[in-house]
Amino acid sequence: MPNNEYQAKPLPFNKELIGISKKTIEIHHDKLYAGYVAKLNEINKKLEAARDNEELKAAANQSYSDLRALRIGETFSVNGVYLHEAYFNVIGGDGMPNGALKEAIEAKWGTMEKFISIFSATGMSVRGWVVLAYDANVNEMKIYGADSHNQGGVWGCIPIIVLDVYEHAYFIDYGSDRKKYIVDFWKNLDWSAAGAIYEKIMKMNS
Ligand code: FE
Repeated sequence: MPNNEYQAKPLPFNKELIGISKKTIEIHHDKLYAGYVAKLNEINKKLEAARDNEELKAAANQSYSDLRALRIGETFSVNGVYLHEAYFNVIGGDGMPNGALKEAIEAKWGTMEKFISIFSATGMSVRGWVVLAYDANVNEMKIYGADSHNQGGVWGCIPIIVLDVYEHAYFIDYGSDRKKYIVDFWKNLDWSAAGAIYEKIMKMNS
């Protein structure tokens, strides 16, 4: 049988971040992110077996059932994996906006400062994630906020800049000062990595 297990991706950067410690990143990537990958693989295996499990399918119920638990766990885990990969992908840079993405943000939000300020404030207004996404439903970039991995996501979106605002992302280094963590997030942003996603999307659209 082919091994179709999802493989955890290594950290895409190897540098000291501003403000966010190595310890935080190690726990975040090696324990938490890796944990979502492991759960995703466990759930995938059980969902595969569920296809032939007539008893499990017959017992499906929206209040509680084994299939419900698997389906809820599936979207929580898979989004936990994708969102963390997107977050790690855009930190580890020099914080200097550049290229077509910078221009497109300025065209939509007026100035980079205005964009950063509403994105950052969104990070203070939700419990989980802030995402600058390309929303293919309306063919434009949108900022979306989410309380959880499987809440607040919008289908048909490709994440470009992703910020994790769960406490585990900053509490060791900043205590409860999430605002300061978000200020430092921008200093660490890898605009080239984010720009590469944007350019890929533009190419797909052309
Ligand atoms: Fe996280």
